[in-house]
Amino acid sequence: MALLSIIVPCYNEESTVEAFYARTSAVCGALDGVDVEYLFVDDGSTDRTLELFRTLAEDKPGVRWLSFSRNFGKEAAMYAGLEHARGDYVAVMDVDLQDPPELLPELLEIVQSGEYDCAAVRRVDRRGEPPIRSWFARQFYKLINRVSKTEIVDGARDFRLMKRQMVDAILRLGEYNRFSKGIFSWVGFRTKWVETVNVERSGGESKWSFFKLLIYALDGIIAFSTAPLAVASVLGLVFCAAAFVAIIFVIVRQLLWGGSAFGWPSLVCIILLLAGIQLFSIGILGQYLAKAYLEVKKRPIYILREEGGS
Ligand code: UDP
Ligand code: MG
Repeated sequence: MALLSIIVPCYNEESTVEAFYARTSAVCGALDGVDVEYLFVDDGSTDRTLELFRTLAEDKPGVRWLSFSRNFGKEAAMYAGLEHARGDYVAVMDVDLQDPPELLPELLEIVQSGEYDCAAVRRVDRRGEPPIRSWFARQFYKLINRVSKTEIVDGARDFRLMKRQMVDAILRLGEYNRFSKGIFSWVGFRTKWVETVNVERSGGESKWSFFKLLIYALDGIIAFSTAPLAVASVLGLVFCAAAFVAIIFVIVRQLLWGGSAFGWPSLVCIILLLAGIQLFSIGILGQYLAKAYLEVKKRPIYILREEGGS
């Protein structure tokens, strides 16, 4: 019988784990022709999350868990899950029930039909989210799709179900700076998008502050586009051209009317502007250098402290 692995990254989720298992196992119990294994990943939680995993694994068949030595982030947790999953099909889900388990049969059917390698979920609205956050999110998707060749779908969740072949392809991308939305799309394969409305968290709090999301967005752009590097070169060219025109203007004016020593305040403004642009460009360069530095070190994406279940 085919095996479906469900990977669930969790960070301080004591208030949601049980509800997640109850609702998901009710849905999965009705699935025909597949066995299901749950792979909970404890991303260095400091609350009772791991304890709940242990109890679940003791009481229920098909529950396994991994536990990290510290918090490595959701991307690392997903990677660890993909590495340890044994299934012919692999699904990734949030534990907070924002990814409705009721969609699993539909996703499985799409992939089993053989027409698609992956069924992924995107939300078509952002109900219940602060409007300013939605606005920034929309701008981010517009920007990244303009500067990157890899398509990043607006509203795409990490909730998806994939074939083994696609999982193996994702695992071959062993980069340290992981931006899964881009990686899923970069590896290709035929993906069917299933649309859903936004669901609010079942309990606990979101781990993503606005600032964390902003950094994540920048990481995404840097990981999947080198366009910002070109910005520096283009600005350089534009300003060289402007300077060239200005030099000719100053020479002609001096020859005809004299008085080229006027205008030092405007000079100060120009110097400030150019210095600003130079620092900005060096900053962009620094971002890429920093990412390259981290990649070159080849640090592990996560470190396991313990694992269990069967
Ligand atoms: N998560 C994680 N490590 C982290 C942050 C979050 O494994 O450092 C997990 C979290 O437990 C949840 C999922 O990632 O299962 C999505 O997190 P959250 O609901 O906080 O994000 P949001 O839905 O608000 O984008
Ligand atoms: Mg959530």
